[in-house]
Amino acid sequence: DQVQPKKPDWIRVKAPVSEGYKRTRDIMKENRLTTVCEEAGCPNVGECWSQGHATMMIMGEICTRGCSFCNISTGRPNALDVFEPGRVAHAVQKLDLNHVVITSVDRDDLDDGGAEHFAQTIRAIRHRSPNSTIEVLTPDFLKSKPGSLEAVVEARPDVFNHNLETVPGLYPSVRPGARYFHSLRLLQRVKELDPSMFTKSGIMVGLGEDRQGVLQVMDDMRAADIDFMTIGQYLQPTPKHHRVDRFVTPEEFAGYEKAAFGKGFLMVSATPLTRSSYHAGDDFARLRAA
Ligand code: SF4
Ligand code: SF4
Repeated sequence: DQVQPKKPDWIRVKAPVSEGYKRTRDIMKENRLTTVCEEAGCPNVGECWSQGHATMMIMGEICTRGCSFCNISTGRPNALDVFEPGRVAHAVQKLDLNHVVITSVDRDDLDDGGAEHFAQTIRAIRHRSPNSTIEVLTPDFLKSKPGSLEAVVEARPDVFNHNLETVPGLYPSVRPGARYFHSLRLLQRVKELDPSMFTKSGIMVGLGEDRQGVLQVMDDMRAADIDFMTIGQYLQPTPKHHRVDRFVTPEEFAGYEKAAFGKGFLMVSATPLTRSSYHAGDDFARLRAA
């Protein structure tokens, strides 16, 4: 059954037209940077860019994995650009970001999975913008040599984010090539290496999971000491991607948020348009001020 449920009116997308949007777009272009906002066709791009929030994607636009929900091309990636960390740092400084989110494609072709490149990017941003808080949203380093994860943690991002994406039962169809318990363990290990670092993870709903499965993921995350959680509605980027099973209602999202806070997460974002990086800076600033 390939018939897609109709998009409800709570999934509304504002046209990106503001001056702030154009400024963010120009700074990204000038510095030849890729954003996940554009690559993933994120519905929040108008709102986020108008406020100077953007998630930069490093290490190229071609991924070695092929997750069925993701709009990034799969194939053989290009060589790393050694000047990229400097360009990212320059853009962060120009955008005067309080909080920056850096993510990447998966680089199973590199023996450290790109960990050192992540670390260099963190250090370059710190150097130019010592007051910006830095969040990394990393791949799983499943095939990387020992010490890869440690290299990223040693560069001391403020928030270490890695998404579980969905319930374990849907991994074969949604996230082939990844392992649920490996990803959980990765986040637990970050906390062991540096207990002062905030850890964060997220899932999409509407892929075919049920409420019980989502609650179980929350328990698994808390057992791995994960601090922040995001839950958002999956939207199909093109008809070739994983189908939308259903649109989860705003009331169900509110129920998930309540349940997650009840399980001890420090920060939770659960709304239809929540993305891993949506309002990440605002939420983090609130938490630090509390
Ligand atoms: Fe970009 Fe994240 Fe905002 Fe989407 S939610 S536009 S990916 S910063
Ligand atoms: Fe997309 Fe990340 Fe999966 Fe690559 S690993 S296909 S970038 S979700």
